[in-house]
Amino acid sequence: MALTLLDKVWRAHSVRTLPSGQTQLLIGLHLIHEVTSPQAFQMLREAGLRVRMPERSFATLDHIIPTADQARPFRDELAEEMTVHLVQNCRDFGVPLFDLDSGRQGIVHVIGPELGLTQPGMTIACGDSHTSTHGALGAIAFGIGTSQVRDVLATQCLAMAKPKLRQVRVDGRLGRGVYAKDVILTIIERLGVKGGVGYAYEYAGSVLERMTMEERLTICNMSVEGGARLGYVNPDETTFAYLRGRLHAPGGAAFDRAVGWWRSVATDPAASFDDVARLDGETIPPVVTWGINPGQSVGVGERIPDPSIAPAEDRSTWHEAFQFMGLRPGQSIAGTKIDVAFIGSCTNGRLSDLQAAAEVARGRKVAKGIRALVVPGSQQVAKAAEAEGLHEIFQEAGFEWRQAGCSMCLGMNEDKLQGREVCASSSNRNFKGRQGSPTGRTLLMSPAMVAAAAIAGAVTDVREVLR
Ligand code: SF4
Repeated sequence: MALTLLDKVWRAHSVRTLPSGQTQLLIGLHLIHEVTSPQAFQMLREAGLRVRMPERSFATLDHIIPTADQARPFRDELAEEMTVHLVQNCRDFGVPLFDLDSGRQGIVHVIGPELGLTQPGMTIACGDSHTSTHGALGAIAFGIGTSQVRDVLATQCLAMAKPKLRQVRVDGRLGRGVYAKDVILTIIERLGVKGGVGYAYEYAGSVLERMTMEERLTICNMSVEGGARLGYVNPDETTFAYLRGRLHAPGGAAFDRAVGWWRSVATDPAASFDDVARLDGETIPPVVTWGINPGQSVGVGERIPDPSIAPAEDRSTWHEAFQFMGLRPGQSIAGTKIDVAFIGSCTNGRLSDLQAAAEVARGRKVAKGIRALVVPGSQQVAKAAEAEGLHEIFQEAGFEWRQAGCSMCLGMNEDKLQGREVCASSSNRNFKGRQGSPTGRTLLMSPAMVAAAAIAGAVTDVREVLR
């Protein structure tokens, strides 16, 4: 019988079927960060339990740590306290930690693939909804809540219901100035922010096949923004080449053996899906969000749509979005003034993202009055970018060059919007208050588009800059 990757990986990790009908699923890799783990470790302590498989658990610091000055103790007392807790918990429970002095610290969804921890055919859990990112390597990866973090720490298992599977095919060729971010924002706009609820997404088609691993990571990262708790791309030669030589990937003959297993978990050609959605890559433009969820977006050359075309169930959200954002139906999104530009996050804080933004920033200047930040997704991304001189390109243009962390993606540290500032952002969420100010407004777009907006002081079509 032809099977999908979801079928194969689920079956390989199924311990048993629970009376509830859910599966007791073995978790191959548990990723931990400072924000969703303290209570889970505390619950473990109170129950007198140890971490069941510390060798399958890895921790990093990302959400709350400062990115401007990382000298300890941090000025931010809460950041310092949470860091102290994570360091102590990792020490007490024997969990490896990529601390700030490791050279390997970074956003959990950047370092997992980068260090070769994330591998095809794995089940991966982390107390963060963007764990879907890791599916780019052909893993079944999903975010979990704090009580489930405790469950995985204690048992290395989770009770999970197997989702349905939708294949999302994107065929054709992307135009210049169109990036993976534009593809995933278009998918979410077409299928809806709740369209993936109850589904996993298998991304396929010639556009995905040609994508680099970093582009696939951007796509899978935002699966959850379309309602799908997990999304994946079948492992192929791009995946294997990416993993070869990485710190935690198998080496030597073990690598070749692993490739045999990784290849075998890919969806069989004759497998069927619960649903198939198709998009034409040629028609995808650079995309910008205008609203308060990632599905409210338009092509940069288009006008913001009228709520009358929205599905009836979405109309109140559209009205709420117009009220909050201060934008009008029929208005061109291009030309919308910004106050802040943010390049970073687990969606778009990798080397290729910084390279694309630097291509735009090179020899240009950030517009007067714009606060512009570039925050590498990890220490290794920062090191590689600095080796290429990207930091100098950004600094000469007037961007701040920061240290690795989540930063203004969620504004949990000092990097926050002020008041009603508008931010062109390469992150993944434009929810009200997401970037640290309850009234701050977020326009999601690709890193190259953020760089173009920083230079123009307003939303602008990066294709015109790249000409
Ligand atoms: S960069 Fe943003 S979305 Fe990604 S892990 Fe950090 S806070 Fe979450």
